Amino acid sequence: DIENLSDLKKLAVLGLGNGGVVYKVSHQKTNSIYALKLLRLDHNAAFISHQAAAREAEILKRVDSQFIVKCHAVFYTLEGELCFVMEHMEGGSLFDVLRVRGKFSEDVISGIALRVLKGLQYLHGMQIIHGDIKPSNLLINAKGEVKIADFGVSRIVGGTPAPCEACMGTGTCAYMSPERVDSERWSGGADYDYYDYGFAGDVWSLGVVILECSVGHYPLIGMGEKPDLVALICAICFGETLEIPETASPEFRSFVKTCLEKDWRKRGSLDKLLAHPFVNRTTSSNVII
Ligand code: ADP
Ligand code: MG
Repeated sequence: DIENLSDLKKLAVLGLGNGGVVYKVSHQKTNSIYALKLLRLDHNAAFISHQAAAREAEILKRVDSQFIVKCHAVFYTLEGELCFVMEHMEGGSLFDVLRVRGKFSEDVISGIALRVLKGLQYLHGMQIIHGDIKPSNLLINAKGEVKIADFGVSRIVGGTPAPCEACMGTGTCAYMSPERVDSERWSGGADYDYYDYGFAGDVWSLGVVILECSVGHYPLIGMGEKPDLVALICAICFGETLEIPETASPEFRSFVKTCLEKDWRKRGSLDKLLAHPFVNRTTSSNVII
């Protein structure tokens, strides 16, 4: 077990996020490599609430799935930092890989979609809404397999709600569904709250990611357009047509449209999407290599 920061040697910085730094570390005793996410709870510059950090820790301790980045240990340092020792994902994030590779073939995208769907099926089965599915939170291992990471804004149904954190924290709502960016208009009324539509919100976000993997840039607004908040919200809530590449297969088209249905009550369920032909292709290779 890894419960001591002094046993971990920092080798490199893997990522910087809101309130967190992620290091590549080696565990001296076992000579193994891990990723260490450090959350500074009390520093003003990058403040994240104790409540949010505790929730992330709680979720990471509960989940155990081949489709979710594994967390081996959670502990506090004497300085009050919260540490997550996680499986190191050698391939980095889908965000970084997309920037390098530009776009992916449908077979690769099908593999990504299938793994994210299975990860979401696992999470939703545990009543966990991820809430922040986007390329930088999907990590790739040495085998080229994608896993879901970053439970920084996730919710366990029954816990404390504060749905717009993802937007405030990261300054973007690019991957959020219509009912999240404008719940008054799109949620369907007072009968519904985040714990009703949050699950469908994860499906929408997957749809945006999948389309981005195919077109090679954020897909809901044009390449040259300035993605300010108003333009984004308009595109998410009122954008009528999807820019799907002409060469895309009918299955891809149908899959993306099923995810990006604006009315969350009509949006495809995980069961429906898991049975969709787009993710049930037999291909020689659907991993990112
Ligand atoms: P934040 O809440 O700050 O967004 P993340 O958990 O998303 O934190 O991590 C930020 C970035 O650090 C990721 O986008 C990724 O590039 C890198 N990273 C995080 N965890 C790992 C890991 N287990 N293996 C490799 N890289 C990681
Ligand atoms: Mg993140």
